[in-house]
Amino acid sequence: MQYICPSCNTNAYSITSLKKHFRKSHLSKCEICNYVSKNVVHHYRRLALQGDEKHLVLWYLSTNLKDSEIKVELKKRAVYLLRRNYIAEEVVIS
Ligand SMILES: [Zn+2]
Ligand SMILES: [Zn+2]
Repeated sequence: MQYICPSCNTNAYSITSLKKHFRKSHLSKCEICNYVSKNVVHHYRRLALQGDEKHLVLWYLSTNLKDSEIKVELKKRAVYLLRRNYIAEEVVIS
């Protein structure tokens, strides 16, 4: 099962590697709203807490926080959205 980066469509084999990719590539610009900052995590966080689901996924991917620091329900929601919206289709080679 492969995950797709919500910001650039790069494929990753697990949430862990997707997070690694995301933190390497998307911490200075939000690709959804073209918001540029030295640290866009605050931007992801702010919109996530306002209920924006796309940014919730981005926030989840951008943080390496302990469970206690991101609310468990928000984390579950982010993982759910990731699994629902950002799974790569299996490529069938015939
Ligand atoms: Zn990406
Ligand atoms: Zn944004």
